Amino acid sequence: MTYTKFYIGKIGELILKGSNIKTFEKQLVANTKAYLKNVSARVSLMAGRLYVECDDEAQERVEFALSHLIGITGWAEAVIVEKNIEAIKQEVLNEAIKARDNGAKTFKLESRRSDKSFPYDHYGICSEGASLAYNQKILDVDVKNPDVVIMVEVRDRCFVYSNRTKGRRGLPVGVSGKGLLLLSGGLDSPVAGYRMLRRGMTIDAVYFHAYPYTSDEAREKVEHLAEILSGYGLRIHINTIPFTEVQMQIKKKSPENYTTLMLRLCMMKAANMLAERIGASCLITGESLGQVASQTIENMSCTESMAEYPLLRPLVGTDKEEIVEIAKEIGTYETSILPYEDCCVLFSPRHPVLRSSVEEAQKIYRELEVDDLVREAFEKREIKLYEV
Ligand code: ATP
Ligand code: MG
Repeated sequence: MTYTKFYIGKIGELILKGSNIKTFEKQLVANTKAYLKNVSARVSLMAGRLYVECDDEAQERVEFALSHLIGITGWAEAVIVEKNIEAIKQEVLNEAIKARDNGAKTFKLESRRSDKSFPYDHYGICSEGASLAYNQKILDVDVKNPDVVIMVEVRDRCFVYSNRTKGRRGLPVGVSGKGLLLLSGGLDSPVAGYRMLRRGMTIDAVYFHAYPYTSDEAREKVEHLAEILSGYGLRIHINTIPFTEVQMQIKKKSPENYTTLMLRLCMMKAANMLAERIGASCLITGESLGQVASQTIENMSCTESMAEYPLLRPLVGTDKEEIVEIAKEIGTYETSILPYEDCCVLFSPRHPVLRSSVEEAQKIYRELEVDDLVREAFEKREIKLYEV
């Protein structure tokens, strides 16, 4: 079967990974195919390049896939031309005309030759390849700040394309085990999840819901965030754990200034159970040092003291502005800033403890006698799956 469209993706970090490279490449191909399971397309990988061939109907889906796929540094739609300099010149001319019609004034030609039997080297390809476009005054050459970069790659086949789109980089989802993301409705935790996806982790999520103190809209918001993340993570189960009774117990038995911290400890406790059940090897939160009272180093130590798995905080050294920037870029921002709160003022102390000791926190936790309620809440969890 021959397809009408051809895309080329560039693989970055994978190159560095020595003997693991085969596993990683396989995962990258499998992930690309997962995006394209409902369309007709062919995916392959060769010498550091990912190739996707498809028909016009699949174009939109393929472009969605390549713009979400973790593990490529860039991608473009390319034209396959015959492996000779005349064909290259002609296609560079076509690309230049297209670019001019879109408003470009200047261009730069770049090339890569991995087929060393091709009679022109890098400089030869660039100067010869650009000659028609330049001589016919389609575009001026500007090597410093061109409006368009046209690329020629001479490999097993010969490709010409322009203006590569930046890829998401990182390691393909699925090569670094599974993490359990504590996902709330705020800005931070979806970004934290995305960060770990980019390190190759598969992610499932857990959300603690305190109905009716937190609304159905709050829950839908979190589910929608999980759905957006599944665009990058391929498959995300979101587990909603009903935490109202746990919260009531905390309110009843905890000193007021400790309620938030106790809630965090209870969340860790339930997250441990879920991690064990789903085979996750770590917990992930959106905490960032000093952002709120529960995120001082002392209070984070208290939270962590309850975790039975490594507790990863990919945003710990990141400030709010940087987090907002990523949230906008990955498409979670608009949902995260919706007004539905994920925790209720009823449970928020006026003067939360800022620097608890682990001993004190553990002692207060034991006095809550909340373990059974946490277990019951865990057993009542509801699971939804979002798939790309
Ligand atoms: P976020 O922006 O992610 O909501 P935040 O700045 O509001 O974070 P906190 O409310 O202190 O900070 O929460 C710290 C972390 O604890 C969150 O990033 C998230 O990982 C986890 N968390 C908080 N509330 C919940 C919840 N209701 N369900 C699941 N995880 C939660
Ligand atoms: Mg929050």
